[in-house]
Amino acid sequence: MTTQPLERQLLEDADQRALRYLDGTDCRRVFPSQAAIEALRGFDEPMPQEGRPANEVLRQLDELGSPATTASNGPRYFGFVIGATLPAAAAAERLLLAWDQCASSFDNSPAAHRIEQVAARWVLETLGLPRQCAVGFGTSATACTLAALSAARRSLLARQGWDFDADGLIGAPEIRVVVSETTHITVKKALRILGFGMRRLIVAPTDAQGRVDASRLPELDARTILCLQAGEVNTGEFDPFAELMPRAKAAGAWVHVDGAFGLWVRASSSSALAADVEQADSWTTDGHKWLNTPYDGAMAICRHADAMASAMNSDAAYATASRDAQKNLTLEFSRRARGIPIWAALAALGRDGLRSMIDRHLRQAAELAAGLRAAGFEVLNRPVLNQVLVRATSDAHTVAIREAAQRSGEVWFGPTLWQGRPAFRLSLSSWRTTDADVQQLVSLLAALRQASASPAS
Ligand SMILES: *Cc1c(COP(=O)(O)O)cnc(C)c1O
Repeated sequence: MTTQPLERQLLEDADQRALRYLDGTDCRRVFPSQAAIEALRGFDEPMPQEGRPANEVLRQLDELGSPATTASNGPRYFGFVIGATLPAAAAAERLLLAWDQCASSFDNSPAAHRIEQVAARWVLETLGLPRQCAVGFGTSATACTLAALSAARRSLLARQGWDFDADGLIGAPEIRVVVSETTHITVKKALRILGFGMRRLIVAPTDAQGRVDASRLPELDARTILCLQAGEVNTGEFDPFAELMPRAKAAGAWVHVDGAFGLWVRASSSSALAADVEQADSWTTDGHKWLNTPYDGAMAICRHADAMASAMNSDAAYATASRDAQKNLTLEFSRRARGIPIWAALAALGRDGLRSMIDRHLRQAAELAAGLRAAGFEVLNRPVLNQVLVRATSDAHTVAIREAAQRSGEVWFGPTLWQGRPAFRLSLSSWRTTDADVQQLVSLLAALRQASASPAS
């Protein structure tokens, strides 16, 4: 037997198992049972001396692994704004695995290069960002923020006459960083890795909704990077770009916007929520959250295409490429064509499909908030986007209800702290979530609230 029929059999087996798994997404526990988690011990064996047949490897993965997954690809996962995976994107991903392209440049993969160019153009059109922007398809908003902020620093230093590539940071003019008080932890992580000390960050105070308070914005100058947000992680709110952008521009500062999920509101009927965000210098956003593409797919977008291409350049004698080669726009050198599932999602949704998906989530979030208020919960945010921040009558009650909901296996969502006190954070971002799923969540929480009548706190 040649290896080919074996490979085919194995991949067909994988596809069958994947389809069986998907058939169950609607009814499987959203967080796995304790027994399924305990069974994961089955993986904890010595690295084999002699390899096992691949079909046995796959069987073990499916039999022990599948039951212990979280059903984040299902309709009642309300955690972390991470969405599910659209069929078109999942299907594209499967074909990509067969292609096995090293999508670093045209020379490595003409198909990947050209399709990612189209994906980049569509992303800019969809988000209403300047067409000359560079778009790097990286692994995560974290990695893309790192790339964008390194381009930002390098550019501000160049404007001060400093050659960062040659001389590094020692003796360089200091670049100030102003961050929102509610800046996402991964923006801080990117800044920390880049050597901006946490103690040196200048914090812009925020209002009750978690937005930068324009009246208390720290001073900006031509050596400042200002980090703003489109979609605060708890409230879903947007910084007041209309007020902040002109001030940053007048000062010569660089504005970076973390729009990991919130930037997609630009594709909806509520795009006015993020008006003026297009005036920034750079943005990051995820495909794997609200666009419902597979992990790891994110975008670093930079108005100054050359700044990005210079900061991320990895041309070598044996590997030169164009300015828009993905290896020159991202941290990666060898890479998957992450832009292709994003292209597939956009192609399958079209402008109308994307708008109606985002619109539906905004409507569902508003209905969820109303339903929970009617059931006696306190909703802490307005809510403007797809995030609903909720508290019960006491902190202990809030925690007890969340834990009971997680244990139920019917739904899953995570905890957060809002203004120092526990809350739970519900996100509407899966294309699979129907109105009936939202209703099921409301009914479950209402019942749990009744059943666990406020413990003494
Ligand atoms: C999820 C998230 C990030 C980080 O994105 P990753 O793709 O997980 O690295 C950054 N900012 C916000 C607001 C987020 O929600």
